[in-house]
Amino acid sequence: MNIILLGAPGAGKGTQATRIEENYGLTHISTGDIFRRHMRRQTEIGEEARSYIKKGLLVPDEVTLKIVKSALDEVHGKNFMLDGFPRNLNQAQQLDGIAKIDKVIDIRVDFDILTDRICGRRSCLDCGYTTHISVLGGANTCPKCGCEMTQRVDDREETVRSRLQVYATQTASLVEYYEKQGKLFTVDGMGTPDEVFAEIKKVLG
Ligand code: AMP
Repeated sequence: MNIILLGAPGAGKGTQATRIEENYGLTHISTGDIFRRHMRRQTEIGEEARSYIKKGLLVPDEVTLKIVKSALDEVHGKNFMLDGFPRNLNQAQQLDGIAKIDKVIDIRVDFDILTDRICGRRSCLDCGYTTHISVLGGANTCPKCGCEMTQRVDDREETVRSRLQVYATQTASLVEYYEKQGKLFTVDGMGTPDEVFAEIKKVLG
């Protein structure tokens, strides 16, 4: 079974993806993570993506599709979960031409909560563990590995506004796209991570 995790930035896709990967063995493909890896390594793709990511805009489809195709090649036929892709209609249509998707899970969170969630998000530079600043209790170290926790450049308030707008104008229409294909499952993302995962388990069986 191949799945897509839909949902606005801050809806908890990454958190749930980790649990789904552990429990269902689906290979996690996050286009945001792939772009961040490219930026850290300062590759050509990373340098091109950086200018868009810093502004909260979508990286052009041509570049994004290239990284997705190569990630799909690398799974070698194993089942996978896409997180952060597709993000517009063209990407969804292109994806239909290259892979078979069984279920799409839309994690729903009220828009007014998303800004606080995203701006308070801190990630470990080393192991990638992500949590909310309120959980760190003033410390700046990763509870898992002890390395430094930082804020993503695109998690600052001015960028978050444009990311949410991009979601509303370009990505939200995918809900209807997948509903028409009979693949859409909606999950309430307002609960604790455990509660949300319990809902997802009902969908995945
Ligand atoms: P994410 O970690 O999924 O929130 O992605 C971080 C940023 O990477 C986004 O705000 C976009 O700039 C870029 N990005 C990630 N996935 C895509 C995509 N499918 N299409 C275009 N840009 C993307």
